[in-house]
Amino acid sequence: MAFALSIVKLAEAMEKPGCMICRMEHEAAIHALTSLLWESTTDYQSRQMINNALGFCPQHLRTFVAIELSKSGPTLGTNLIYESLSKNIATDLHNIQRKEQVNRKLRGLLAKLNIHLRYSETPNVLKSKEPCPACETVNITGENTFSTLCEVITKNDEKMVATYEKSDGICLNHLRIGLTKYMVEFPEASEFLIQDTVQRLSDNRENMLEFVRKHNWKYKHEELIEEEKVAWIKTMTFFSGYPGERFDHHIDKF
Ligand SMILES: [Zn+2]
Ligand SMILES: [Zn+2]
Repeated sequence: MAFALSIVKLAEAMEKPGCMICRMEHEAAIHALTSLLWESTTDYQSRQMINNALGFCPQHLRTFVAIELSKSGPTLGTNLIYESLSKNIATDLHNIQRKEQVNRKLRGLLAKLNIHLRYSETPNVLKSKEPCPACETVNITGENTFSTLCEVITKNDEKMVATYEKSDGICLNHLRIGLTKYMVEFPEASEFLIQDTVQRLSDNRENMLEFVRKHNWKYKHEELIEEEKVAWIKTMTFFSGYPGERFDHHIDKF
């Protein structure tokens, strides 16, 4: 059962460009990283979670640092967390090295006795015990948002359905994850989402074909209509989840 607050948040996300679930996930990640930043210096469990994950994934690490730089200035939280992680990883590497030195000696001795062991197990090198905590939040938020959307569609909440129809829809990734998990639980909503997506894809395809045709010199005198100009951008949103404005000339720096 979806909470009223999550329905309000979903409605807000629908009114903004890009995939509403990607947006909700992005906001949830920022919220989780902000909490972790403040808790990390005092809360043992939060630190443990970050330690078990060997830190954040690259994308969330950038967000974490950006939050700290924009809110407090000196990167004390980042220094504290990553100093301790650096120590842990150096210790792990020493242990791996010692273990491998012992194994090498053992293999050498056995080889002298003409015994050659077969190794079926791949070594467990720097494997984290838990995933990135922000990625965890993102995954849970994504699934909850999809199920909230299915609930409002199933209840035939006219206002929400109308807002959904005007929105940029759901991206490929979230359609894949959401339908895999909720198609059986929400059959009507899944059918609605599938039909809606097929219609959007087909409309965009038609306009993209016209875009290509009108760029042929033979038809150059025919002007592109607005829908034909933006169909490829809408399609990029479907394939990536990003708002259309993110597709520009800018190539991200490393
Ligand atoms: Zn998405
Ligand atoms: Zn992450």
